[in-house]
Amino acid sequence: MEQGGTISIAALQLMDDNQESNQSPMARGLVGTKNLFQLERYSLTLHPCADSIIVHGWTETFPLQVLKMSHDPFTSSPFYQSAVGQLMSVSEHVDLQRGVLERLTVPKRTITVSIPVRMDDGSTRMFLGTRVQHSLTAGPGKGGLRYAPTVDVGEVAALAMLMSWKCGLLGLPFGGAKGGINCNPREMSIGELERLTRRFTQEITPFIGPNVDVMAPDVGTNPQVMAWIYDTYCMTVGNVCPQIVTGKPLEIFGTVGRSTATGCGVVYCIEEASKVMKLQLREATAVVQGFGNVGSITARELQERGTKVIGVADISGHYLRPGGFDIPALIDHTDRNGSLEGFPGIAADKVGMKEFFAAECDIMVPAALELQVTGEIARNLKCRIFAEAANGPCTPEADQYLRDKKEDILVIPDILCNAGGVTVSYFEWVQGIQMFFWSAEEVDSRLQQLIRRAFLRTLTIANTRNVDMRTAALILGVQDVGAEKQVRGLFP
Ligand code: NAD
Repeated sequence: MEQGGTISIAALQLMDDNQESNQSPMARGLVGTKNLFQLERYSLTLHPCADSIIVHGWTETFPLQVLKMSHDPFTSSPFYQSAVGQLMSVSEHVDLQRGVLERLTVPKRTITVSIPVRMDDGSTRMFLGTRVQHSLTAGPGKGGLRYAPTVDVGEVAALAMLMSWKCGLLGLPFGGAKGGINCNPREMSIGELERLTRRFTQEITPFIGPNVDVMAPDVGTNPQVMAWIYDTYCMTVGNVCPQIVTGKPLEIFGTVGRSTATGCGVVYCIEEASKVMKLQLREATAVVQGFGNVGSITARELQERGTKVIGVADISGHYLRPGGFDIPALIDHTDRNGSLEGFPGIAADKVGMKEFFAAECDIMVPAALELQVTGEIARNLKCRIFAEAANGPCTPEADQYLRDKKEDILVIPDILCNAGGVTVSYFEWVQGIQMFFWSAEEVDSRLQQLIRRAFLRTLTIANTRNVDMRTAALILGVQDVGAEKQVRGLFP
């Protein structure tokens, strides 16, 4: 027990108050005054929907972020509801039994763990981490691990579902998964981040593995975090296991091309889309929201093709410069300073988020977080290609508007647009299994082949069935995942 003392729990309540007889022995055992150790062990490691438990009556000693995740099951999350809405929107277009579709609306497994971390000042802080495995039908779960103060179970569950469709669309032998820890990595030291990562890895080791679930970087995590996961897992199992995690540094069986894969994949999609829209990239303008791994590489690749990048944004603000930004100089600045803030002259370019998205440009790339583009923002978009580098950047209202405008704005949906990351993660996993490593040219040519093929398959479905690109991509992804479930049947 890290903090000592006791914590009072007034009640443990089932989701359905009338089903008292369904209370598990563990739930019954926790009613009353119990110490933090027991709460950690038994209550917080239970998934809210698996045993339908909500913890009430917390005390001051109970950290806020723990409450946030444990009392809010994913079904009430707007992002999760939006993901389920997308799934149901293609129910009439896919050849799947109703029971199979219903199975796909709920993740197969959700693991939530408490993570006690010794902070640099000597105190102990509790964090909550979760890993959602939406589907394991096609192979091990695959998906990123996110560190952000906004992380909750609903967000992670929605992202896991999107991963399933993405892997299905690309034809990769993975199920969909996602993980997250509710924390602010920008406010933590490197030592605190390492201890957080290692303890999280240790807590979820029974639920991951090279053939079970394979993590990768996402918002707020990077190759160094993957290296700590790799090392913790290898130390635990007692042997080197390169395929336990992807997005690792090259020194420990990472693959060439992984750090640039997602941004490059975005730009291969944009190249295909520009053929459809009869747009010359060397004469085009682009606006990119988010300047982390995905946004910065996308901006750099576009600029290398002659596109003028007139808008960039990160957590410090949104910036428009009609003459165009020098992207390599911005990357150099953010590498050294952590954000766009302080780049020479950029303060004068600062605009509001609405003005940013309303900029006159050919290509708009949301590459930050989900649900950034509301209905109002969508109605003011002036771009011709809307490339969803981020996962789930549109609210349902924005999505509906863009569907109706499909003749004017070509949307490259997230599960297609940012699939370069998971594709090269797949290459890294394969190389790890074989212990046989590919050249940069091999990685890039196979990435291009898979991404361009997925784009063209999606376009063909959109044209032949007269649907928008998102619906087309979802039809392909959901059909692939669902067909595997359907043919395998329901056990027992
Ligand atoms: P990152 O942490 O490297 O970068 C995120 C960027 O978004 C940062 O520049 C941050 O400052 C900015 N940002 C955060 N909040 C913002 C806000 N409110 N307004 C404007 N900017 C904001 O993350 P990343 O890996 O580049 O991921 C970006 C998106 O791409 C996420 O949706 C992620 O799920 C998705 N994605 C990432 C990968 C990958 O390989 N990294 C793969 C597929 C999809």
